Amino acid sequence: MAKLPVATDQLIKKFGPHKAYTPQSGFYGAHEPDRLVKTHCCYCGMQCGIQLKVKDNKVTGFEPWMEFPFNEGRLCPKGVQRYLQNNHPDRLLGPIQRVEGKGFEPVSWEHAMSKTVSEIRRIQEKYGNDAFAMLSGVSITNEKSYMIGKFARVALKTANLDYNGRLCMVSAGGGNKKAFGLDRSSNSWADLAHAEVIIVAGANISETFPTLTHYIWQARDNGAKLIVVDPRVIPLARTADLHLPVRPGGDSALFGAMLKILADNDWLDHNFINNYTSGFEETIAAVKDYTLDWAEEQTGIPGEKIMEAATLWGKAKTSFLLHARGIEHHTKGVDNVLSCINLVLATGRIGKPYCGYGTITGQGNGQGGREHGHKCDQLPGNRDITNPEHRKYIAEVWGIDEKDMPGKGLTAYEQIEAIHRGEIKGLISICFNPLVSLPNNNFVREALEKLEFYICIDSFLSETARHADIVMAGSLHEEEEGTVTTAEGRVVKINEAVTPPGMARRDGEILMELAEKLGAGDKFSYASSEDIFNELRIASRGGTADYYGITYKKIVDNMGVFWPCPSPDHPGTPRLWEDRKFKTPDGKAHFNPVPYRPASEVTDKEYPVVLTTGRVVSQYLSGTSTRRIGKLVDQYPEPLLEIHPKLAFRYGIKDRDLVRVETRRGEAEFPAQVVETIREDTVFIPYHWGGKHSANQLTIGSLDPVSKIPEFKVCACRLIPMGYKALDVITKTAYQSGL
Ligand code: SF4
Repeated sequence: MAKLPVATDQLIKKFGPHKAYTPQSGFYGAHEPDRLVKTHCCYCGMQCGIQLKVKDNKVTGFEPWMEFPFNEGRLCPKGVQRYLQNNHPDRLLGPIQRVEGKGFEPVSWEHAMSKTVSEIRRIQEKYGNDAFAMLSGVSITNEKSYMIGKFARVALKTANLDYNGRLCMVSAGGGNKKAFGLDRSSNSWADLAHAEVIIVAGANISETFPTLTHYIWQARDNGAKLIVVDPRVIPLARTADLHLPVRPGGDSALFGAMLKILADNDWLDHNFINNYTSGFEETIAAVKDYTLDWAEEQTGIPGEKIMEAATLWGKAKTSFLLHARGIEHHTKGVDNVLSCINLVLATGRIGKPYCGYGTITGQGNGQGGREHGHKCDQLPGNRDITNPEHRKYIAEVWGIDEKDMPGKGLTAYEQIEAIHRGEIKGLISICFNPLVSLPNNNFVREALEKLEFYICIDSFLSETARHADIVMAGSLHEEEEGTVTTAEGRVVKINEAVTPPGMARRDGEILMELAEKLGAGDKFSYASSEDIFNELRIASRGGTADYYGITYKKIVDNMGVFWPCPSPDHPGTPRLWEDRKFKTPDGKAHFNPVPYRPASEVTDKEYPVVLTTGRVVSQYLSGTSTRRIGKLVDQYPEPLLEIHPKLAFRYGIKDRDLVRVETRRGEAEFPAQVVETIREDTVFIPYHWGGKHSANQLTIGSLDPVSKIPEFKVCACRLIPMGYKALDVITKTAYQSGL
């Protein structure tokens, strides 16, 4: 073993070998790893390559994976700390059952399984199959996502399956399908680095997708102009050529006005529009009244800045447009996405080198998780569950009668509403924490308490899991083999580093046993994750998300394969649409008219301030994992209310004063962070925390009519200054646990 630096020897003496850590080298000394496992970060949709150090079946540190192509060893603060979730003292080590008045008590797997199956049977016999619903996250592998879709329809026989991508990427998916007939970003990141103009709309890349920033810096080094659209001066905006501080809810007015400027100045690609698109005339007609004065009124952005943005975009030869939740988390999320796509199509800058369009997926497998039949209206290969041909094909792959396949079910928030109404009586959830991540979470809590039986599969006891009757200890990312699909559309391989600790089990094995006990064991007799992937390949064959030509070996040999990849000899498709054959019924890319409409709740005298929510760099989604990692907690220990100095002055609020925020759904108190980097009419709160620190006590449960995504990014609030400084008396533990 290498000689240790003196300081590290002392650390080991003081804290023991498991806590002797240095930021430079991960764990030291006794932690000389048994092996390094090449895999990927478990958090955002970049899915950066990483090597995990493994010692005695524990993940003890990491090494950069320099050769992996898209991050080349770079990691963000979450990636650097991600290994600390493994071996965490809060980790669930076996099944537990809630006992009235006593909290949770350990039970055997046999009991947990038989209780769950008997409750599923009881509820379904009494109320019908759809009265037992399923919800799942997509920070999971493609294999698990595929298996969950099949489990819900074949073993549980319910229509009511949905996923937490419903809070994330569905508006992008809805827009992509309408415009292109296929739901994927159009290019690999390599094209981004050479684009002449880049628009980043509603995407706090530096905090939520940090390693992508490298490609934007490369583009800047190559002379690109950067336009950032965001109500806050997010880190990326601080170095942008142009920042457009849009009022939350004003995005489609901005993009519509820009489209009118492109048309007025004939900054259009007529050849592309005439030969490869449809709907152009109607779309231009829909923005004919979008003058700069009107757009300024709707967006709060000075008209000359809108003109400057349109001019930069219009005159460029190459360009890239990226967006994320900032424009998607709206009751008009799909409209906002379509208004972005209209700009791309008008200038014909897609399917060519250095020209593209992309959605940033916040979740680890936000892309793959929306392709394999995990959504309430979807079958594998991104097929439609209401389409008779699609149903027939998948029923054959699954070996069931098509008539036995349930139809379209309820989306995630609609399920909660149905539970609240008493229509859904039982729930199985896996890696999903709706009590933190869904809007109006007092309503969500009431719904969870109405369930007759709730079974949760997770690695930690999340806020939502505390409402379960049975919690089954499942697996972490590093405890299962499989694949995930990055935001680029690149399928990469996750390698198992360690086995689940204690009596915890792999999620896939839990589902297989439940399926067997529900009488569908013969449909779930997989010997390995590769077995599941090979079935997924067949199920996706001929669908728009076609993985048929992708194998584990091909992924490893090529460090990822881009779908669609329809045959074994196909190299994959890093850049879509070079052939101009779009997947819409008429084979053309579709312009879509986007008439402007306001948000579902606008400010008024009673609630005069706009509330918007988002993320911080050190936390991931509902924080179930990252709120347990001390260094990430230290970085941003509590949710703060960002407020502009002028708005703060109006209310007499000073930095770190406690402020009560009230909406029509609830109220909560947050320390103020007085910053000049936010619009004067808007306040911002990050949403990663639960309990009384939850921003989602305040947000509104209004949904986009197409994607059914909730409007997290706009609601009306009022501010009550509490007149004293927030004290640092609330411990990290309280914040971590959401108390
Ligand atoms: Fe990469 Fe995202 Fe993980 Fe950060 S959180 S290391 S950007 S995959």
